[in-house]
Amino acid sequence: MHHTALANSTDYSQAHAFQNSRDIQDLHMDGNGWVDSGQHFTNSRGGWLTEGRNGSLYALLHGQTMVQGAHCVGQNDQAIGIENEGTYLTEQPPAALWNSLVAFCAFTCQQYAIPPTEIYGHKDFNNTQCPGLLHDRLPELRTAVAGRL
Ligand SMILES: [Zn+2]
Repeated sequence: MHHTALANSTDYSQAHAFQNSRDIQDLHMDGNGWVDSGQHFTNSRGGWLTEGRNGSLYALLHGQTMVQGAHCVGQNDQAIGIENEGTYLTEQPPAALWNSLVAFCAFTCQQYAIPPTEIYGHKDFNNTQCPGLLHDRLPELRTAVAGRL
């Protein structure tokens, strides 16, 4: 789990979610020189989910393979990277983002047979503030995902 560390937009539309996803892709490809977006999926503040790295959705739906990501050093070949739109160092995410995150994590755990206890935040592995206050809510997230499963 990550936060994008970008602006906390109040545009909760699907169109904005698509634009945000494309902006990240531009940043990762043109700025970082990567082959595609680093993360597998992006969750918008309006609760819209978009595919990041090409092939991630196909792999998730079939549950047998994963596309290697570029979102967390040491975890890219074994962890599904979910970027949550916004910066959560001092403020909490909107309910729509949280609800979408719970639902999507539950689906991802189901598809890959990942126990909810194995949901982690970026800062568990790398020296970063990411995903901010969302990291403090990991126990709540794991419990909510377990409930869904
Ligand atoms: Zn991160």
